[in-house]
Amino acid sequence: MTKHIFVTGGVVSSLGKGLTSASIGMLLENRGLSVRMQKLDPYINVDPGTMSPYQHGEVYVLDDGSETDLDLGHYERFTHSPLTRDSNWTTGQIYLRVIEKERSGAYLGKTVQVIPHITNEIKDCVKRLATDDVDVVITEIGGTVGDIESLPFLEAIRQFAIDVGKENCAYIHLTLVPFLKAAKELKTKPTQHSVGQLRQIGIQPDFVVCRTEHEISRDDIEKIALFCNVPSKNVVEEQDADFSIYEVPLSLAEHKLDEMIVERLGLTKAKPLDLTKWRELLHSLRTPQTEVTIAVVGKYAKHKDAYKSIYEALDHAGMTNKASVRVLRIQSEDVAREETRALLEKANGILIPGGFGDRGVEGKIDAVQIAREKKIPFFGICLGMQCAVIEYARNVLGLADANSTEFDPTVEHPVINLMEEQRAITDKGGTMRLGSQPTTLLAGSRAASAYGTLEIEERHRHRYEFNYDYRDRFIDGGLTIAGSSPNGKLVEVVEIEDHPWFVAVQYHPEFKSKPTHPHPLFREFIAAAVRMKRAGLGLE
Ligand code: GLN
Repeated sequence: MTKHIFVTGGVVSSLGKGLTSASIGMLLENRGLSVRMQKLDPYINVDPGTMSPYQHGEVYVLDDGSETDLDLGHYERFTHSPLTRDSNWTTGQIYLRVIEKERSGAYLGKTVQVIPHITNEIKDCVKRLATDDVDVVITEIGGTVGDIESLPFLEAIRQFAIDVGKENCAYIHLTLVPFLKAAKELKTKPTQHSVGQLRQIGIQPDFVVCRTEHEISRDDIEKIALFCNVPSKNVVEEQDADFSIYEVPLSLAEHKLDEMIVERLGLTKAKPLDLTKWRELLHSLRTPQTEVTIAVVGKYAKHKDAYKSIYEALDHAGMTNKASVRVLRIQSEDVAREETRALLEKANGILIPGGFGDRGVEGKIDAVQIAREKKIPFFGICLGMQCAVIEYARNVLGLADANSTEFDPTVEHPVINLMEEQRAITDKGGTMRLGSQPTTLLAGSRAASAYGTLEIEERHRHRYEFNYDYRDRFIDGGLTIAGSSPNGKLVEVVEIEDHPWFVAVQYHPEFKSKPTHPHPLFREFIAAAVRMKRAGLGLE
């Protein structure tokens, strides 16, 4: 019988429910259990693919091409849970399914209602993951308890315990215990109220996990326990992980959350916890031998979550290279300013991430030029590769009027243009070239040596591509086409040989980097940055 854990959040949003859920998944997997992770999001969009990163942070792409919430990135980085379209459901998707069923006559004669039709559909999404081989399904409910739009999800997970038995479901509520500076006190009232709201809906949490800046006193723990109707040992403190998000599982394990979950759900086959590897990982993060500065030049640089997976992948690569990676977030429009150029010229590496629309593109192209001419290690990702191609066309091939048709539809030299199969598409949602696609690498290229193989699969999310008509001109002009789709038609990787490390890819390698398995291209990019730094200091 598969067991279920439901994670809800209260008091404020952005509490780190995703991270907490992923950490619980990691701890249970470490104990030999087979875990599946899932997020239910209360917003109406069918998926976050059409939302600006300013609204919702990064859009995380899975192998199957689904565009999902960035918390799924945490799930993949912390656990081995296979993630698919079934791992992220929104109110929009749930309603879409119910309305499609209604139109096809599935409910003939019935009035279709939130309860039971919407709630049944939600429960089905949870049950779908509970296959025979799975010990625990962890379902995170997005949003904050008390929001109107969360209600059908909370009602569904309340009913769930009746359907499968209370002994098979555990509810974890994550709250904030804020510190009031003026009073120099932690305050437990918001937690009491938030759990109160959950209990009004009929959900009694088994565990209350409290995010806090400071240690919670015994008295406050007792108070929370009393008002929230849980034993005091089930009130788990989760202090802010100032140093790294990878500390969160250790902190939860210290408070024995995994042990209490195992007991509560009767997961008798769970093995003892062994966090040696995880501790080693944190140790290498804590004891770097050097520091490199990487400039990430993007349109959403100011939003901390817009390039989440990229920042994480840089950290993973830092760990294997025994380097701490200091990220300089550069707003691409600022590259025109003298002081920003100076910062870029001093960086040990420049990375241009993916993006859409023309705002800030010229700044990104200028940043490529700085990296190419000043021989600074360069890593271009998706739009970053397209910018590298445009820069090469303009400044090396002498095609002054080269651009992507995304930014200038009537440009003389459309070195990047719309993919053939995209031309007739007008809908914006879920219609890009998405998900895992094979790439064949060029033997002897930097990419091939990083991966250690010529056949790779990486995740894509784009509409535009390198224009094949210009391929020979680029090759003659010295650009290396280091990776293509198996039929050779789509250019997936370009490199410059006469440069310390210049690699740009049409796909998104950041989605496949884990702390335990840093992505090979990020690893080599940081290795090149470390070499450059040492050379600059006269050490190489
Ligand atoms: N806007 C570009 C395209 O659609 C790049 C997309 C991206 O960087 N994810 O092709």
